[in-house]
Amino acid sequence: MIPSLFDYFAPSTLDETLLLLDQYGEDGKILAGGHSLIPAMRLRLAQPEKIIDIGALRPQLSYIKQNDNNIVIGAMTSYYEIETSTLLKETWPVLPEATSLIGDTQIRNWGTIGGSLVHADPSSDLPAVLLALGAELVLQSKAGGERLVPIEEFFVHIMTTSIEPNELLIEIRIPKPQGQKASYVKLANKASHYAVVGAAVVVSLNQGIIREIKIAFSGLAATPLRAEGVEEALKGQLPNDAIIAAACKECAAEVDALTDLHGSQEYRRAMAEVYAKRAIKAAISRNLSLIRL
Ligand SMILES: Cc1cc2nc3c(=O)[nH]c(=O)nc-3n(C[C@H](O)[C@H](O)[C@H](O)COP(=O)(O)OP(=O)(O)OC[C@H]3O[C@@H](n4cnc5c(N)ncnc54)[C@H](O)[C@@H]3O)c2cc1C
Repeated sequence: MIPSLFDYFAPSTLDETLLLLDQYGEDGKILAGGHSLIPAMRLRLAQPEKIIDIGALRPQLSYIKQNDNNIVIGAMTSYYEIETSTLLKETWPVLPEATSLIGDTQIRNWGTIGGSLVHADPSSDLPAVLLALGAELVLQSKAGGERLVPIEEFFVHIMTTSIEPNELLIEIRIPKPQGQKASYVKLANKASHYAVVGAAVVVSLNQGIIREIKIAFSGLAATPLRAEGVEEALKGQLPNDAIIAAACKECAAEVDALTDLHGSQEYRRAMAEVYAKRAIKAAISRNLSLIRL
């Protein structure tokens, strides 16, 4: 299908981009990798009047670096850059691993971490991984400057976030690992590789006993979702198969799970239990000596 008519802007600086967002508000739409926005426009699910193409900001907003407390990723960093980052492989290898499961080579070459977060498709992978990692998002607007949003407060509903129409997502900050291990596993849609259900786990152990654990699901519900009941059940436990199975048993029974042609509500709830168990075991059995700072 052919998209509806729109005006096209290609700002060359961040200032110019923020000015355009300020000027056009709800009518303006950022174009990053375009892998979600363009299909939505072609289906006329999105009909923005003004497209603000931030392709020229790629050099400025594509980076993966560290400071004293955080691993910092620019919003326009591509999946490919995440997948191949030595810094991430040495700190949070779960990010390159999860990214390698996304779509296909074309999607990973051009799709951006910022686009994935703002698009907020419930079946996307990185939102759940970043939720388990406790990320913070840096949003910027001309009028308000920088705003820091914990990822727990970012996702509001299907494809809806707390970003304001005049804001640009600039950066993602992830606390550096302090002895935690992490994993992400998913039941992938066979065609697109989107998560029918996925589970991300970040766990810290003390002499084999679970000290802290965060579990987040993709694909299960309208937004990425923590499995707080499972987390509570596992804290202080010396995990084995029986303890993990008991903690995960019917863990999504109360969740308002999605239902669509890829899986019913009941199927997604059942798969959440299966993939939570797999992700917990994968995180726990990970060799920590390969992770360093
Ligand atoms: C065939 C196919 C298979 C896919 N498979 C998977 C998969 O397995 N797993 C997965 O997670 N995803 C998958 N995706 C989605 C893909 O990851 C998208 O690229 C990603 O979701 C959006 O990133 P983008 O850079 O292309 O964003 P765009 O499409 O350019 O933008 C998406 C939305 O985010 C907004 N936006 C983008 N960047 C910013 C910013 N910095 N600040 C403010 N707003 C911004 C745009 O305005 C738009 O509303 C798939 C997509 C396709 C087409």
